[in-house]
Amino acid sequence: EHILTLDQIEKSFGEQKVIKPISIEMERGKFYTLLGPSGCGKTTLLNIIAGFVKPDNGTIYYDGKDITAKTPNAREVNTVFQNYALFPHMNVYDNVAFGLKLKKLNKKAIREKVEEVLTLVNLKDYQNSDINDLSGGQKQRVAIARAIINEPKVLLLDEPLSALDLKLRTEMQYELKAIQKRLGITFVFITHDQEEALAMSDYIYVMKDGVVEQSGTPTDIYDEPVNRFVADFIGESNIIEGTMIDDGIVQMYNKRFECVDGGFEPMANVEVVLRPEDIEVTDELEGLLDVTIKSSLFKGVHYELIGVDNEGYEWLIQTTKKRLARDKVGLKFNPEDIHIMLPGETEDEFD
Ligand code: ADP
Ligand code: MG
Repeated sequence: EHILTLDQIEKSFGEQKVIKPISIEMERGKFYTLLGPSGCGKTTLLNIIAGFVKPDNGTIYYDGKDITAKTPNAREVNTVFQNYALFPHMNVYDNVAFGLKLKKLNKKAIREKVEEVLTLVNLKDYQNSDINDLSGGQKQRVAIARAIINEPKVLLLDEPLSALDLKLRTEMQYELKAIQKRLGITFVFITHDQEEALAMSDYIYVMKDGVVEQSGTPTDIYDEPVNRFVADFIGESNIIEGTMIDDGIVQMYNKRFECVDGGFEPMANVEVVLRPEDIEVTDELEGLLDVTIKSSLFKGVHYELIGVDNEGYEWLIQTTKKRLARDKVGLKFNPEDIHIMLPGETEDEFD
């Protein structure tokens, strides 16, 4: 049973197709993320779900019922906006109580409910605070409290953490995830930050130019990107052109490597993806791949190296052992860490 279904949703602004047909099905109680670069259509898609933007084509179902023609207020969906959209002249309590006052609930019921949601977002002691005296993270939590007080079944969050500095942002990632778990409702979260998406989501939709390029769990998407765009956008990778010699054997320039991926056409042209952290650096030269270190940066948890092989290809490598520029080292990798993709149709456009 899906709580939310988008069926062949399309939207253009003038000549520009901002959402090409997108179909998505979301389950109850899960944390979904729309991830993609700025301008790819994330906010437009969220606004279509909320009812602020009308799609040109397609149908939206909530709990199996067609809600495409319903107004935002008539949908059991609520939105947390990037800029918080709080009332600056009201204190925390009144901001959060606002929706319930509109519903004309009695005072006692409102007070109980407001205290409940403020407890949930760790702001119980701030009821009487002036909005303007709060930190960015506290304002964000007020915005969340206000959005959840009407008990929506789906909460839409448009880059809610992007205005916060890195440390607070990481804290809020934990808190948001915990709030979602406690409430047990469906979150549809937008970000352009791949690390944030990987850390928070049950399921990610990777978008580009109004299209979902890939959807899956964070590990699916990280370990098995379907094309160059996803492999580059989600984390860092080395992507090398190759040929599948046979199932389990891939050739990169004139060298052959074992891999576990199979099922390709014989002699298919492929792209070989290797994550920097999956490459092992050894002192044994004349292994399959020798490189000269061109640069070495200390990054705290690891060194980030760029090594150049004798074909001139630059390898990005992460290693915990110190290595210096001009060192010559060998590279090794496990067959199961080699990921093979078919070259994408969008490759040229992306380059
Ligand atoms: P994202 O949230 O991924 O950054 P948006 O959905 O905001 O992307 O925008 C996608 C594209 O649609 C952008 O090129 C943007 O300029 C355009 N766009 C969004 N809203 C409108 C609008 N109301 N009128 C015209 N163009 C719009
Ligand atoms: Mg946006």
